[in-house]
Amino acid sequence: MVSAKTLAKRGVVHVVARVAPLTWRWRKPGALVVLMYHRVLPKDSPLRKTEQPGMYVSPETLDLHLTELERRFELVHLDDWLRRAKQGETLPHSACAITFDDGWRDNYDFALPVLVKHQAPATIFLVSSYIGTAQRFWPNRLMSLVQAEFERPGSVAFPARLRALVDPVLAQGRAQGRLDTEALDPVVQQALRLKEAEIRALVEAAEDRDTQGSGDDRDMLDVREIGMMAATGLIRFGSHSTTHFRLDDNATEDLLTAEIVASRARLRQICGQPIDLFCYPNGISSASSVGLVSRHYLGAVATNTGWHASDLDPYLIPRIRLHDDITSTRDAFLARLSGWL
Ligand SMILES: [Zn+2]
Repeated sequence: MVSAKTLAKRGVVHVVARVAPLTWRWRKPGALVVLMYHRVLPKDSPLRKTEQPGMYVSPETLDLHLTELERRFELVHLDDWLRRAKQGETLPHSACAITFDDGWRDNYDFALPVLVKHQAPATIFLVSSYIGTAQRFWPNRLMSLVQAEFERPGSVAFPARLRALVDPVLAQGRAQGRLDTEALDPVVQQALRLKEAEIRALVEAAEDRDTQGSGDDRDMLDVREIGMMAATGLIRFGSHSTTHFRLDDNATEDLLTAEIVASRARLRQICGQPIDLFCYPNGISSASSVGLVSRHYLGAVATNTGWHASDLDPYLIPRIRLHDDITSTRDAFLARLSGWL
């Protein structure tokens, strides 16, 4: 049975999906909407079990999005659009640039065929030290640890700080007899309040070295896949730092240099193409990190929601984040694109 609240929400989404595209035609020329994707995972992929729901779309959802986008926007490479804007050239009336964060292996397996089908350009932001390795981001490692503890109570020795975050979720899961990824999301959100160095050390301390993955089950793109994607002419690459360290006020000058400047040099070697765009890990930046990025890159994307235009800061470009749980229908996608909901 569908609740009155759900029906009302669907009604709002339906109306926004009809009204918003009409207003796009009247926007001042030179508008750019930048889309932010992360992973592309089929509905039956076991990888969804250790991933936050806000991190993935299915290949079918991506296909639906591209079908709607090509009707309404000129699809562009973000760096091309920024270069044209910088030189004062005429810009398309309404453009759209597609981006993928982190450099997931599934981008090659499941996003690339859809992008090729639509001949859609895209930028993938790579974490330079993760390429071709089985390294995992701490949120995925933390979620795996909580699941292991749920399945085998007492098997994970969480440090006290983590135990305090994890125990309420485990207790709730035990009461319900299951622990789904939606229930794990708040653990990651709360852990994000800790300093980057602290949360990394806590997750590391809780891990049993023997259970870490091998090169065979890597989740990240490798050099060969990056080369194949570049060869299509559709995919370009940007830097998403060296280790995905949050670049807030806690980051030292040396760390900023290693994450922002060194990653660019390394990625140029690996990708064999210019690396002109930067993407702040977790969308977090500081005056110092934005300053350093602006001295080494053409532009940078953030995670605040909205549309970009040539009179806005090219080093804090807003994006529209897309994931299956909120954009798997045409109406939901168009309403989300508006940036109003
Ligand atoms: Zn990221």
